[in-house]
Amino acid sequence: MDSDKSCSICGKKAVFYSAYLKQWLCKKHFERMLLKRVRSNMNSHEIRDKSFIFGDENKCGKEFLKFMFNDRESSHGEKLYSYTLEDFAISVMKFFLFHDPPNKKIEQKNGFSPLFNVSENEVISFFKLKKRDVEKISRSGKDESVLKFLSEIEERRPGGMISLVKVGIKLGII
Ligand SMILES: [Zn+2]
Repeated sequence: MDSDKSCSICGKKAVFYSAYLKQWLCKKHFERMLLKRVRSNMNSHEIRDKSFIFGDENKCGKEFLKFMFNDRESSHGEKLYSYTLEDFAISVMKFFLFHDPPNKKIEQKNGFSPLFNVSENEVISFFKLKKRDVEKISRSGKDESVLKFLSEIEERRPGGMISLVKVGIKLGII
């Protein structure tokens, strides 16, 4: 995303609008804030294990986890699911719209989804700024149409998906 906006932190040329922070950010601060958010998710959920298994649920999410942990993937340890904000937002929306039973939890018995508040758009932009392409998840038709609906809301009101996920957490749906 190119713009004539400047970074809210350092004033340099902004490359990304963070719906999460409601701020324009330069490359350095976008990357820093994103990594910081995931680390803080890990800390606040007390994920301390030094060895992790990365889940295959969402390819671009997994690439991001691999990047964050310098490819230190183990064959044992706590499972880090690669679901992103979209996956959880779809789950909450399907619960409201169709009464579909929620099928994923942020915190599970032997695992955690550290990217629950990180969007695919952020992950893809993160890698694009590093000149790397990442594969997007392929979803079912139903999930795709729910996501299309959510994306339209997000376009009109950036941060809408985050708010939905927060409601889902509060109600114990995800
Ligand atoms: Zn900056």
